[in-house]
Amino acid sequence: MKPLAILGGTFDPVHIGHLNAAWEAAALLDAEVRLVPARVPPHRASPVAGADERVALLRVALRGQSRLVLDTRELDREGPSYTVDTLAVVRAEQGSRPLVLLLGEDAFAGLTSWHRWEQLFELAHLGVLTRPGDEPAWPDALANIVTHRRVADPAMLSGRPAGCVVALPVTPLEVSATRVRELLAAGREPRYLLPSGVFDDPSLLAPYRRPGHR
Ligand code: ATP
Repeated sequence: MKPLAILGGTFDPVHIGHLNAAWEAAALLDAEVRLVPARVPPHRASPVAGADERVALLRVALRGQSRLVLDTRELDREGPSYTVDTLAVVRAEQGSRPLVLLLGEDAFAGLTSWHRWEQLFELAHLGVLTRPGDEPAWPDALANIVTHRRVADPAMLSGRPAGCVVALPVTPLEVSATRVRELLAAGREPRYLLPSGVFDDPSLLAPYRRPGHR
């Protein structure tokens, strides 16, 4: 059975870094990839754009292809979006299908601060996406887990439901939502950092052009 991979995030807004990483991960893993926007991210400040606005951007971004799919389940749930809860629900739905939680290198390095983080490895494999920037140091607890669970070949994940860590060497793109928000707030048009289509309707990016945020 083809693995099901999940890329969570605030997607505030979705940009080519997310999209290309998800697209290349789908090919490396021969997986379907779901993009799962978070409503109330437990780790960080509230998103600039509301849930509906971020979803509208994601819908435009994902038009015309079927490998990457939008999954709004966290937006439909009350309270903080804990990844471990989301994965438990997906696991119950998918039986023993291999699940892969996709994380950029920056997010992976901070994993030990996540709610019930060790349980994530019982529910899914972890696929770590190359992301440019300083290579963040791993805390000992994370380094130990990786030592025991690392596999070299993404194809090895398809034989078991969960528990491995694999590096996914996607094309490094130094794009962040923070940078995109800065450019939009400054009245600039980051046309080629965002998926084509989002500039066609001026209301889609309006939340980021309001004064008073970054
Ligand atoms: P912000 O700048 O607001 O912190 P972000 O660009 O990091 O946002 P998120 O929505 O927080 O975007 O990221 C969701 C997931 O996508 C994280 O696991 C993150 O590491 C990964 N990701 C984001 N941008 C890239 C990129 N350019 N390359 C690889 N992975 C990325």
